[in-house]
Amino acid sequence: MAEHNGRPPTGAIYLTLAVLIAGGLIGYMNVRRLDDNRRLVSRTHEVAESLETLLSTLKDAETGQRGYLLSGTTEYLEPYQAALSGLSAERQHLAALISDNPAQVIALSGLNTRIDAKLDELAQTIGLMKRGDKPGALAIVNAGSGKATMDGVRRDVAGMKRAEMDLAQSRDRETIASYRAAVASIALATFVGVLLTGLVLYGFRRNLTQAQIAARLLAEEEERLRTTLASIGDAVISTDADANVTFLNPVAEALTAWTNADAAGQPLSQVFNIVNESSRLAVENPAIRALRDGVIVGLANHTILIAKDGTEWPIDDSAAPIRSADGSVAGCVLVFRDISGRKKDEEALQRMAANLADADRRKDEFLATLAHELRNPLAPIRTGLQLLHRMRPSHGPGQKEDDYIRRMIERQTDHLVRLVDDLMDVSRITRGVLELRKKRVDLAAVLRDAVEAARPIIESKGHQLTLTLPPTPMFVDADTTRLGQVFTNLLNNAAKYSERDGRIWLAAERRDSTLVISVKDTGIGIPSDMLPKIFEMFAQVDRSLERSQGGLGIGLTLAKRLAEMHGGALEAHSDGPGQGSEFVVRLPAALAPV
Ligand code: ADP
Repeated sequence: MAEHNGRPPTGAIYLTLAVLIAGGLIGYMNVRRLDDNRRLVSRTHEVAESLETLLSTLKDAETGQRGYLLSGTTEYLEPYQAALSGLSAERQHLAALISDNPAQVIALSGLNTRIDAKLDELAQTIGLMKRGDKPGALAIVNAGSGKATMDGVRRDVAGMKRAEMDLAQSRDRETIASYRAAVASIALATFVGVLLTGLVLYGFRRNLTQAQIAARLLAEEEERLRTTLASIGDAVISTDADANVTFLNPVAEALTAWTNADAAGQPLSQVFNIVNESSRLAVENPAIRALRDGVIVGLANHTILIAKDGTEWPIDDSAAPIRSADGSVAGCVLVFRDISGRKKDEEALQRMAANLADADRRKDEFLATLAHELRNPLAPIRTGLQLLHRMRPSHGPGQKEDDYIRRMIERQTDHLVRLVDDLMDVSRITRGVLELRKKRVDLAAVLRDAVEAARPIIESKGHQLTLTLPPTPMFVDADTTRLGQVFTNLLNNAAKYSERDGRIWLAAERRDSTLVISVKDTGIGIPSDMLPKIFEMFAQVDRSLERSQGGLGIGLTLAKRLAEMHGGALEAHSDGPGQGSEFVVRLPAALAPV
């Protein structure tokens, strides 16, 4: 994960440092080797020079000897003497120079043997000469062994010089290689160092930018939170892990009568002092539970907050723990609100509901009384009509008109009786006083009776009714009159809410332990939004008087309640206006009577 703390990535810095140090070390080692080689090469040259000097000193000694032997003049012995004294120092110097080279040490010891032999020869001849034996001395010279020794010395010197030159050459090569290696390692280290430094700087800057962005976002977030807490309608108190108050928003300040500054650091129980509404006993603070159990503690009812100034507020409160990154509970947020307004609303609603229930009860009583009172005069009217019918003269003027008017009054009276009966039934059901007299019957018989009852309206509108029943009886425990009422209602509706010459299907079948009866028509249909409502009391799709077909909107309510009182159900289906309707009654099937 990228670091967002604004600090440079330490790993990269160490790597850069390691590369730089390694490059420096390699460079230093190569430079040292370069320096060593340089010193060695210069010593090689010194060795060569020293060999040359040695040889020329020896030559000087020989030249001195020759001069003395030929001339007999002792002056010639001076260079010989000087050479002798110089030689030993030169030989020591040379020995020191080559002491670290075993091959040259061996070669030098050979050279020294020859030099010693030469010096012996020179000393011997000079000794003879000094003793006056010139011919003896010259005889030694002429014998040629001195020349041979000198030639040997020359060869040894040349050999040693060659060895030194070879050494110098190989050191030269090494020097060049070391130089290149030094340059390359320093250049590489510099390049890698610069590159890594660049990367470190880039990473650092990026981290810094990300850290700045993160800091800005955090500041914005804090500001947003502060503004939100200041503007919300709920009171908010936050605490630390020890339940000491850390913050109060303005609503909390208003409700507790504590200021944010005064409350900061105070124990929460002091600032947020709550008691039970009825017992007045201290209530366990939800924040304490949230801190202790690390869980969100939901709203508590019937809590009273007692403010610093003694004011009491009915409140709802809840608390949630604040968790730090490692999951431990770092504090708690307590949210609460004044519910006095809501309590008043609730009380008002309760009063309203009680009033409505009272009004509803009185309406039911009124409907019952009304139905009863309406029914009372209807009975004598009907009887009167029957008497009129029986007492009518068989012939006479105006006979036809009288009959027409009487039948019209009869029809309307019957309609009025049906409406009043429905009304009475509904009021009985709502008051829970309707009783069913159930017995085991064949549903087919009930359906046929219902068809007969609905036949007048079906025929008057020219509808075609199809009745489909299974061949075997379908037993049901039912109050035949009441169950018949359900199907008569549905058939009447099918006829009422279909244009003339429509089709109506009444079909029944047994599905497992349920009897399913469907009343389907090709009528005006029901809009989908009305489907759930038509079973409500007084509900009508079209309430205009001319379309309501003289009903009160209670037929379906009654049918549904009656179906339910038989342990069944009633539901409606329609694909919408003009698409016809289907009402389905489900009843529990009963076993055949024994
Ligand atoms: P009413 O017929 O007295 O108005 P109901 O309770 O029997 O009352 O019916 C309620 C309403 O449901 C009716 O007013 C009518 O709008 C609608 N409705 C009932 N049956 C049908 C049907 N078969 N086709 C279309 N609409 C119907």
